[in-house]
Amino acid sequence: MEVVKPVKRNVLLNPGPATTTDTVKYAQVVPDICPREEEFVAIMDEVRQDLVKVVHGNPEKYTAILFTGSGTIIQDVLINSLVPEGKKICIVNNGAYSARMVEIAGYYNIPCVNLEFPTTGLSDLDVVKQTLEADKDIAAVATVHHETGTGVLNPVRKIGKIAHDNGCVFIVDTISTYGLIPINIEEENIDFCMSSAQKGLCGMTGVSWTVGKIEEIEKSKDYPKRSYYCNLFMQYDFFKRVGEMHFTPPVQTVYALSQAIKEYREEGEQARYERLTQCWEAVHTGLEEIGLDTVIDKEIQGHLVVTIKAPQGDKFDFFKLHDYCYERGFTIYPGKMFGLETFRLCNLGQITHTDIENFFIVAKEAFKEMGYTIPISA
Ligand SMILES: *Cc1c(COP(=O)(O)O)cnc(C)c1O
Repeated sequence: MEVVKPVKRNVLLNPGPATTTDTVKYAQVVPDICPREEEFVAIMDEVRQDLVKVVHGNPEKYTAILFTGSGTIIQDVLINSLVPEGKKICIVNNGAYSARMVEIAGYYNIPCVNLEFPTTGLSDLDVVKQTLEADKDIAAVATVHHETGTGVLNPVRKIGKIAHDNGCVFIVDTISTYGLIPINIEEENIDFCMSSAQKGLCGMTGVSWTVGKIEEIEKSKDYPKRSYYCNLFMQYDFFKRVGEMHFTPPVQTVYALSQAIKEYREEGEQARYERLTQCWEAVHTGLEEIGLDTVIDKEIQGHLVVTIKAPQGDKFDFFKLHDYCYERGFTIYPGKMFGLETFRLCNLGQITHTDIENFFIVAKEAFKEMGYTIPISA
């Protein structure tokens, strides 16, 4: 991949899109092509096979189905396509992205059991078990692997076991862990996982996918068709017959994804996880040096997002901190927790612990600009 001219590098510490390589950026610059041409269909086919491999799926049992859109589109697809007529979905909800799936079910009038737990901890699995045993109308269970809103990593393997023991299909939003934390789809008891190109694989926004169990997709053929564009079986069937998306794919975004997958393979699953864990450790070190407190217990964090309590008092101004860092090439992000002022530092992208250390040099200056002495005293 030729990089004609290096592009200004920004370190994105927001929860996606993530910092990308120039080779991925330039992979989008390709001759115009009609996506119905064999040449493009072959690229799509290879990408789909690779997406199954990332989560170690057996290609005889699992397939990748892509849609044009950001991550929420694939949440929408799976929630609206996998609940049979007259049945319910149960959402194990301990954060903003599970809450979004509850909302999606609501928009489609799909009966939904919203099992809500505090966003600062893990879900109570006894409650999940009792709920599924008591209500045999529940046919699907959905949850989020890594709550990007807080940084909590959920025990999906255990939730999946409970779902399967009760005859439910298990849908997991792995949007912020896919390609970052090693996942073996079958061992994790997952029937459908999902992700989006701008997250862990470090591609461009515009294409999202599920890796799902073929047997369950086939079963969904006769489930209610609740959306025209966002129906899973329709898209699966089209891929099976024609080898491509039903409607126009985001051509250039798919080329970038193909390059991003190559770079993922070159780095290696374990090496990527370790690089990001180093970034995450550097985040904790930097926060301790400034004297800032985190919200979530370190033991239940996914090594990808840290939620930070804003310091007490009126000196703190998130926008000042943001703008100071932004002007120097670092993007930080507000929190997503109700009733507590927080902000987040996320390390999903093509970054290293050195980027994090450089960020903290800038962040310390920003705190001094706001009138703090470092370390901030309680
Ligand atoms: C990013 C993300 C999504 C999707 O968000 P979009 O803005 O639609 O891409 C969904 N779930 C999780 C856990 C995410 O991190």
